[in-house]
Amino acid sequence: EAVINRIAAGEVIQRPSNALKEMIENSLDAKSSDIQINVHGGGLKLLQIQDNGTGIRKEDLEILCERFTTSKLEKFEDLSCIATYGFRGEALASISHIAHLTIKTKTAEDKCAFKASYADSRLLEQPKPCAGNQGTQITVEDLFYNVATRRKTLKSSSEEFAKLADMVGRYAIHNARVGFSLRKQGESMAVIRTPPNSSIVDNIRSIYGNAVSKEILEVEEVDQVLGVKLKGCITNVGYTAKKLTFLLFINNRLVESLALRKSIEQVYSVYLQKNCHPFLYISLELDPRTVDVNVHPTKHEVTFLYEDKIADKVRSAIEAKLLGNNA
Ligand code: ADP
Ligand code: MG
Repeated sequence: EAVINRIAAGEVIQRPSNALKEMIENSLDAKSSDIQINVHGGGLKLLQIQDNGTGIRKEDLEILCERFTTSKLEKFEDLSCIATYGFRGEALASISHIAHLTIKTKTAEDKCAFKASYADSRLLEQPKPCAGNQGTQITVEDLFYNVATRRKTLKSSSEEFAKLADMVGRYAIHNARVGFSLRKQGESMAVIRTPPNSSIVDNIRSIYGNAVSKEILEVEEVDQVLGVKLKGCITNVGYTAKKLTFLLFINNRLVESLALRKSIEQVYSVYLQKNCHPFLYISLELDPRTVDVNVHPTKHEVTFLYEDKIADKVRSAIEAKLLGNNA
């Protein structure tokens, strides 16, 4: 059974960035305004996240890592309009099967923090009181230590770190209200650092720096008929790489959409031929009932109703902005 659980967990968490994405979403769900991440060895030696959110009650620590333990589903109908990121209660359980997992947490009500360690979905011993501020610190050590097959499919630790940094940067940009920091091997210079209550544009500049052109245009559009709210930041023309950098959030989830990517590549096809480097951040709010939410941590591709119409809408909003700006 242990082996089967481990294999299943290795499917849910395929690389350090999957694990960290789940942990960031948990911190955001817990209403944190500050999220600090520390990584060693590309996340394989250590992945640590400290937030200042609601914390976890001591009573809940016991069953926290059992599969399908979630505090986020009140009734079944909630599944059709999920406001929080989580709801499967699968992430921490999976991580506990394939890494050494320690949680230190404190709620506003508790007098002190509590520390608990887990293995194979189970609490190892009763939570121990300790010092700590309100919020939760999750420490994941030696990820995949017991899954040799998964370790073989991973890239070098520097490539895994690059994937982690890319993902953290995207969340930091989308959640400009929240301060983020990402540190590598405990170095004092953070790789990513965004202050709380900053703006999306400032965060794009701080994270993508010179890869983004001087001018960032802001797009905002509402379509009542389609039930779409669009917000975005796009560059007029950038430079350096041939690639399009495209950050897409749908209902606050970091996702991929082939339909949207294609229609955006059309807009920028001229620039792309000139080896320019357009940058786009797009956030869409759609009726949750029309989105096939990414119910699996490794499933980033998302589909939704009226995909073609919405892709057209996004394309024309971007085109109008680019043309208006050049006129
Ligand atoms: P889900 O997010 O789908 O509920 P997870 O396995 O990701 O499942 O987390 C299980 C539970 O642990 C959550 O429902 C939440 O109650 C608690 N939890 C996890 N991380 C945090 C955090 N950073 N702050 C507060 N509670 C947390
Ligand atoms: Mg979760």
